[in-house]
Amino acid sequence: MKSRRQSHELFRRIESRCRQHRRVRAHSSSPAAAGSSASRAPLPPPRSLLPPPLFSELFDVDANLTHEAFKGDWREQVRLAAVAGVSRAIVPGSTLADSRRALALATDSSGCGVGLWTTAGVHPFNASSMDGVGAAMDDLRAQIGSSGGRVVALGECGLDYSDGFPPAEAQLVWFEHQLDLACELKTPLFLHIRVSAAFDDARRLLDARAAALPPVLVHCFTGGEDELRWCLDSGFHVSVSGVVCKKERGAELRRILPLIPLAKLMVETDAPYLGFPNCRAGHPKPKKQFPNVASALPLVVDAVARAMKLPAADVAAATSANARRFFGV
Ligand SMILES: [Zn+2]
Repeated sequence: MKSRRQSHELFRRIESRCRQHRRVRAHSSSPAAAGSSASRAPLPPPRSLLPPPLFSELFDVDANLTHEAFKGDWREQVRLAAVAGVSRAIVPGSTLADSRRALALATDSSGCGVGLWTTAGVHPFNASSMDGVGAAMDDLRAQIGSSGGRVVALGECGLDYSDGFPPAEAQLVWFEHQLDLACELKTPLFLHIRVSAAFDDARRLLDARAAALPPVLVHCFTGGEDELRWCLDSGFHVSVSGVVCKKERGAELRRILPLIPLAKLMVETDAPYLGFPNCRAGHPKPKKQFPNVASALPLVVDAVARAMKLPAADVAAATSANARRFFGV
């Protein structure tokens, strides 16, 4: 009963901060105050006019801001995330072109109130063709090398044997090449691994390279206890998404969460995916679950903290520090 009250209180506070943000923004972007280019003007977040932040810092390690759901309003999404207390975020790349888009977006985000960094890689969903893998690795090598430190990991790459994904043989070729590139460059790996059979194959490929691996993050962990124990025994970090807020789908995750040492944990929204009840607090149509938004991160932290029986402020501080250390930002 108490926990339901806590998350409702958090929802209410996000709503009220976002409402106040809009009021201040409407005022400061009026023609008299900001001229005609107001929608692109790099306004500082109006923190001084808002109540104190929900947490002192929050790091969303997976905000898919290049997704078409955010076309035309990613800046406002980032501003609202800042209002909800998010201070840093990773924008992942899912193809060569998308990785370039993510980098351009992050480079162009100054003044939005959230520090953005990116990954470069080919997501298993896009591994439908085995052509051009060698040239693609050269492209990724160049993107990482020339980003001035803004591309902080190789990924999302991995294996996902869910329905609708390319055949395993195609995914394995791309995954192995990206693993070898990350080992060569010593660039942190941002992994996407879903369903048990994919974990079995990923485990075989990662174990075979154990001595050469860079730091590894398994993002949006939704595996079982055995898979979690393997990640932790391998020294990997694990990030948890809003699945933890879902009543039935998140039950197993909430059960095994206390197994994760706080020093290995990160949090994410995976926006616009993986929405959950109330994730759109502070947005129009708050009852919808798509698109999920980066400003939902405090609710993820709150659910993680309750499952781990820890103060939410401790989870926010530790997951932010872990992500900063892992990505070197
Ligand atoms: Zn993913």
